[in-house]
Amino acid sequence: MPDKVRHVLGISGGKDSAALAIHMRDRVPEMEYFFCDTGAELPETYEYLTKLEAFLGKPIARLNSGRTFDHWLTVFRGALPSPQMRWCTNYMKLKPLEAWIGEEPAISYVAIRADEPREGYVSTKPNITTQFPFKAANIDFEGVKRILADAGVGLPGYYEWRTRSGCYFCFFQRKSEWVGLSERHPELFQKAVEYEEKASFEATAMAGRQYSWSQGETLIHLIERKEEILARHEKALAREMDNRRSAALVDVLADVLDDEDDTLPCQACNL
Ligand code: SF4
Repeated sequence: MPDKVRHVLGISGGKDSAALAIHMRDRVPEMEYFFCDTGAELPETYEYLTKLEAFLGKPIARLNSGRTFDHWLTVFRGALPSPQMRWCTNYMKLKPLEAWIGEEPAISYVAIRADEPREGYVSTKPNITTQFPFKAANIDFEGVKRILADAGVGLPGYYEWRTRSGCYFCFFQRKSEWVGLSERHPELFQKAVEYEEKASFEATAMAGRQYSWSQGETLIHLIERKEEILARHEKALAREMDNRRSAALVDVLADVLDDEDDTLPCQACNL
């Protein structure tokens, strides 16, 4: 008798994976939904998961490493994760996911849209195969928005100021998104500042280097330039809205933010 195949779909807290979960609900009723929880996600993300669970009619499994971010930070001797050393994704998302799937054959459904060139996270484990239903059905950004609207789920709440899901301190945030964090969640911004100061202090003691979440400057310096960053962001947004006259703000926000910083986000954390 062949092994039972599991069907799994990762929810990142972003719009695309939420839309895929909705799209697949009735197509694969035995689907298992999961969310890799670092414990440092935005409050809006947890609210969005609850909303989604209500639509799906089943819980989204919360996977974690069993250890806090602070534990891993100690393991990595106080070095904050960065695009070059992304231990957070590896230890707090991918390893718990691969442990949860185990050795059973599984099909993983990944929310890459038809209009996206990127590939997304594809597991290298031989028992996991990957499918891209949006690519197969030619569903693009417009299609995703339609799926979310029709289901009454809508976009995640953080979309008013940030377009990528993930940890509140994620180093893939654009400068204006850091400013958004300081305004929407000042207590989380303050915690990010404290991590940075501690890491900088420890790193300075060890190697004379200063660590920062955001490229080229500490959060304290970044926030001193708040007016300048916001003015540039608003100008780019207005210009883009003007170019695309009938476009909604949500349609241009991602493009404008990408122009401000085109660093690719984490493929495993932002779908
Ligand atoms: S969202 Fe950012 S900080 Fe969080 S695990 Fe992913 S890459 Fe790391």
